[in-house]
Amino acid sequence: MSYVDEVYERVVNQNPGEVEFHQAVKEVLDSLKLVISANEENYRKMGLLERIVEPERIISFRVPWVDDNGNVQVNKGFRVQFNSAIGPYKGGLRLHPSVNQGILKFLGFEQTFKNSLTGLPIGGGKGGSNFDPKGKSDREVMAFCQSFMTELSKYIGADQDVPAGDIGVGAREIGFLYGQYKRMTGLYEGVLTGKGLNYGGSLVRTQATGYGLVYILDEMLKHNGKDLNGKKVVISGSGNVAIYAAEKAQQLGAIVISLSDSAGYIYDESGIQLDLVKEIKEVRRGRIKEYADVVKTAVFTEGKGIWSIPCDIALPCATQNELDIDDAKELKKNGCFAVAEGANMPSTRGATDYFLENGIYFMPGKAANAGGVATSALEMSQNSQRLSWTFEEVDEKLHDIMVNIYAKAADAADRYGVSGNYVAGANIAGFEKVVDAMMAQGI
Ligand code: GLU
Repeated sequence: MSYVDEVYERVVNQNPGEVEFHQAVKEVLDSLKLVISANEENYRKMGLLERIVEPERIISFRVPWVDDNGNVQVNKGFRVQFNSAIGPYKGGLRLHPSVNQGILKFLGFEQTFKNSLTGLPIGGGKGGSNFDPKGKSDREVMAFCQSFMTELSKYIGADQDVPAGDIGVGAREIGFLYGQYKRMTGLYEGVLTGKGLNYGGSLVRTQATGYGLVYILDEMLKHNGKDLNGKKVVISGSGNVAIYAAEKAQQLGAIVISLSDSAGYIYDESGIQLDLVKEIKEVRRGRIKEYADVVKTAVFTEGKGIWSIPCDIALPCATQNELDIDDAKELKKNGCFAVAEGANMPSTRGATDYFLENGIYFMPGKAANAGGVATSALEMSQNSQRLSWTFEEVDEKLHDIMVNIYAKAADAADRYGVSGNYVAGANIAGFEKVVDAMMAQGI
């Protein structure tokens, strides 16, 4: 059995039921086969793969809080500190009923390579809870966040582990979490990113994942003789990543015709009016359906199905495994020629393979959505310096980082004879740096 297969089998046996984690490990290791076989003896001697698939630490804790009816609620809280070879653990906190240890391990594993790819000194981590913020009052969200941080504060720090937002965690939650960290520790330090601008946050952090996604998409298109101008773009999701991907795509001349949430999707052939979407999602915390109640040219369709809309470019920005092989075929059939992932692992393995085998330009999340965490690292730098950079400064740095990530992924793919396969390229480039650091630091 090959080293990769041995390690994969071990992961499946030792982490029963954690299917998303198995999926992520398989996808990464498979695409690294060439690198691994070229270095097998050395890696085996150092137990490299066995170590790289095992989180350094998982903190799992009880999160009790009191709801508005005076009842005690108890959620599960986690922080997976996956890999600190190249810097303090870094990665978001996700609040969603689907959260469990396996999902957070998949996300932490992916985060390690994504963070490496940014070129910045950040390790990989992820955390969160099965708490569902949907329908909760501000006070309930605050009570939950305070309880969560009361425990988490013992294990994080500006040079140790720096969480941020993810699904269900935006500016409001980061504020509550940060306030509680301060109360618990007495420290005013850059322990979280995505903070408000008046207390250490960075300009562009809100827009960063979406903008970064479109910067790297644009770079990929340019290198393949295409551009965004006049292209029809379908984007799933309507959170922060989707909204700012739509904004940047529009700025570069594309027409964004669709957005979605867990209830369904809107289609507006005249181009989505983002001011209204922002008002619905960011101010009212409403549902995407409300857009079609107001805009005459828009239609709301319940359920999945967003990938059946004819488009040139698809940007999955909602959640893991939201786009499967049938969706991939449908996209291709309807003329889609490029896909870039704003969410983490939104395409199933079948869909990813289909894109690669059928000539669709495909940029995986690990590279494509790295702008968020990269800008988080820029926030950490500003906090350490006790300085704030201008919007233009941060945006320019973000743009350079995304162009660089494209170059690294493309170069690694070329080096291993799989030109244009940015999945392999991103995995190889992210992996090489982490491995180098792990080797240097001993066992
Ligand atoms: N949750 C984002 C991600 O998946 C951002 C993490 C961060 O900024 O630390 O990369």
